[in-house]
Parts: sequence; structure tokens; C-alpha cells
Amino acid sequence: MNFVDFHCHLDMEDFAGKREEIIKECFASGFSKLVTVADPYEKDSLRITTEILGYHKNIFCTAAAHPHNADKYSPQVEKDLLQFLKNKDFEEKVLAVGEAGLDYHYNFSTPENQQRVFKRQIAIAKELRLPLIIHSRQAEKETLNILEKTKFSRPVVFHCYTGTIEDAREILKRGYYISISGIVTFKKSEFLREIVEIIPLSKIFTETDSPYLSPQPFRGRLNTPLRVKLVAEKIAEVKGVPLEKLNKAVNSNFRKLLKNT
Ligand SMILES: [Zn+2]
Ligand SMILES: [Zn+2]
Repeated sequence: MNFVDFHCHLDMEDFAGKREEIIKECFASGFSKLVTVADPYEKDSLRITTEILGYHKNIFCTAAAHPHNADKYSPQVEKDLLQFLKNKDFEEKVLAVGEAGLDYHYNFSTPENQQRVFKRQIAIAKELRLPLIIHSRQAEKETLNILEKTKFSRPVVFHCYTGTIEDAREILKRGYYISISGIVTFKKSEFLREIVEIIPLSKIFTETDSPYLSPQPFRGRLNTPLRVKLVAEKIAEVKGVPLEKLNKAVNSNFRKLLKNT
């Protein structure tokens, strides 16, 4: 069936001891791609992600300094991040720089530091000629401003989109992609289903953001990449297209992000 989980956190403690098993189950049940997100603030995350990449040929990764920890950004964090992104052992599996951006919902770090670190991540993506995966919460306009000011010209994906339909229109107008998580299955997410309707198949991704955001009917429970099936089913239903057609489009979008294609 070619399911793609475009964004999950397999490095996290919740998956300790069961990573290989979950990954096997995914690929045995019709997955074509998995993308796990590494976090340079945690050396363990980079080490575990390196291990995860070895479990299957179709596991890819992204890495960047998350806005939540922007107050803690240091030359060492950047050095570890660059070392990971440039590692020749798995170069072809580094899909993008991400998740990077701004989170004004939690504001775990000051907006100033978040903006500064986001700009550094953009510079890294430029230098390494990689796409950018965006985390933006209640900060879509500022995120778009910074992308424009820094003249970032490689592919951009807004992951786990929860912004407004107006901002979604602007994102699409710029040719960026939008990735949709299990939030689309929640009862109260009518706004997001309306947004899904306007995203062309050529600009959409499916993700879990697991271990967070388990889709219905598992809301509140530990999420795993396997549940991207529920996300994809809901998106296909909302868009009125066969599931297979949606998955085919997501796979084609994935290939467009891969380096040198
Ligand atoms: Zn995120
Ligand atoms: Zn995430």
C-alpha cells in the first residue's frame, strides 16, 4: 500500500527496546518510507538515530535544533548537528534539515532566540543543499517572513500543520508542502479537514509525529508510525480520492525531496 510516515520520533525513550520490532512491522504491513527526526540537543538522539537508520533501507532521517530548546543553542549543539548531517556513512538517508522553526504557542524559549536559531538552521540547509522541515505553531506569518527574508529556495515542508487556511494558502502559493498528522482525525479538527481539501495531492505529506498525537480512536495513547494508516485514510476520505492514489502522490512528493532528483 506504500504508506509513508513523513515525521516520527523513533529516537524517543517511549520506543526503547521496541524500535526494530515496530520498524519491521511497518515494512511488513505495506510501508514504503519512514522518516525519523533527530534532535542535536540530545547526543543520545543522534546516536540512536544512526542505529535506527541501519534497521531498514527505506528509513530516512532529518535533524535540526527544535525551537523549544533555542535558549540552549550553543556552538557544541551546532557542531554535533553538522557532524551528523554530514556523516558519509548515511549521507543518502539524510532527507532534510528539520524540524526547525518557531513555536509561539509554548514559547519554551524566547522568540528572539527561536528566530536566531531558526535562521542558523536555514543557513545550514542552504550550505548542505537540503530541504527544510518546518515546525511552526502560532507563528506561521513570522516563519514565512523569515523564509522570504533569508531567500530560502530549496523545498520546504510545514510539518503537523495546524495553522489557518489563509496561511495554508500562502504556503501553497509559495510552492511549499504541507504535512498532516493525526490531528486531522480529531472530532474538533473541522478546520484542518477544510485545509486538507485545498492542499493539492502534489503538495501533501502524511505523518504521525509519534509518539505524540495518536489519531482517533487511539487519542491519548502512545502513538506509533503504524498509525499513519489512520491519518492517510482520513485524508483520502476528506479529499474523496482512493487511498492508493493519495499514497502514490505522497511517495512521488517524497522522491522530489530526495537529493539529486
Ligand atoms: Zn513539530
Ligand atoms: Zn516532531
